[in-house]
Amino acid sequence: MDRRELKPPRLGAENLGRRVVDYRPMRAGRPRAEVERLENGKLVLHNYGHGGSGWTIGPGAAAYVCDLLMRHADGDLNLEIAVVGAGILGLLTAYELVNRGYTRIKVVAEQFERLVSHHAGALLAPVSMQNEPDALEWVNQIAMDSYKFYAAVAQGKMPGLRAEGTRALPAYFEDREGSGLEPYVERGIMAAAKDVEVSFGNGTIHQLVVYDDSYYMNTAIMMADLRVYLEAHHVEFVQRRVCDLARDVAEPFVFNCVGLGAAELGDTRMIPVQGHLILLQGQVEADIQYQISVSMECGVTSPSGHKMSRYFYMFPKQMDEFTGVFGGTFIVGAGREFHETNNSEFEVMIRQAREFFGIKS
Ligand SMILES: Cc1cc2nc3c(=O)[nH]c(=O)nc-3n(C[C@H](O)[C@H](O)[C@H](O)COP(=O)(O)OP(=O)(O)OC[C@H]3O[C@@H](n4cnc5c(N)ncnc54)[C@H](O)[C@@H]3O)c2cc1C
Repeated sequence: MDRRELKPPRLGAENLGRRVVDYRPMRAGRPRAEVERLENGKLVLHNYGHGGSGWTIGPGAAAYVCDLLMRHADGDLNLEIAVVGAGILGLLTAYELVNRGYTRIKVVAEQFERLVSHHAGALLAPVSMQNEPDALEWVNQIAMDSYKFYAAVAQGKMPGLRAEGTRALPAYFEDREGSGLEPYVERGIMAAAKDVEVSFGNGTIHQLVVYDDSYYMNTAIMMADLRVYLEAHHVEFVQRRVCDLARDVAEPFVFNCVGLGAAELGDTRMIPVQGHLILLQGQVEADIQYQISVSMECGVTSPSGHKMSRYFYMFPKQMDEFTGVFGGTFIVGAGREFHETNNSEFEVMIRQAREFFGIKS
């Protein structure tokens, strides 16, 4: 078995920067990616509900719904199209449309900044959804397409997207099954994981598996680059809330990329999943050139009483003055009404991470 010498991150009080709580837009059963013809003839292409894996499978999902449009509308590239939602799913969908040659695209959204798409950790992890067994093949397919997309970004091959928006870095997990990355290996997209003994140089050793060709995305860079590229291609951005897709959108072709907003538009399968993140500061960058994601004990949040899974992940994402990101929790059913109440989870997360890395507090 290989042995890898890693250094733990610095997790002193002075290294724990901005704390973030946000909500994954999970749809029970599967993310929604389908066509709906409304009574007034409008064609709606739904693209939302990717839970904690919206970044991981977003590019493939965007390509999939654009294929649906091409199947349902003739080859007219002058169709009037509205993309509702400006999170990663909306922007990737508009990007795909531009690259396929569509010329009349408008992005309509209630909010453009400080979205969950900006706050996400954004490591490659197709595991944070609640998919029915018959959705798995489709999810795997769009996950593979997404991996190829990010690999192309990292090689500077995607128009308008800086290579720094995506980074390949070894990713360590407890086991192959929990990583969610085995389907990529089975399809020959990623190299096989290796069993490794990881030493943190302080007497703490863990038996882990590592995928040396995994990715994480820099949410700030990618969101900014997508916006600049779309504006340069004459995509119009309009800030507006949509309450009814049939009534409030003039365009005959509508991509519905509203994330959790789908609940208010009538989708009863939407479930908010609360997550906690801490942005790290004062790190020695060279020391933390790896991604790690391990599960911790499950529990019940206090005082909101939600059953939850705890884990933590860490990787060196650079955003503003911060040099790493450290998460997280997965609290199914906890929406914005629990924004303050589950803050005690930050302390649990920090304690568990220090224990894992063998850091004495
Ligand atoms: C703590 C945390 C960590 C995460 N880590 C990862 C990770 O490591 N890897 C990963 O793949 N994913 C991760 N995610 C999940 C990821 O962030 C989401 O899956 C993704 O950002 C969802 O994008 P979206 O575009 O669907 O939604 P959003 O970013 O929420 O965008 C929705 C858009 O729709 C607009 N909108 C909503 N309703 C309306 C309306 N009625 N009218 C007009 N506009 C409307 C909003 O204003 C917004 O512009 C994480 C999430 C959290 C909370």
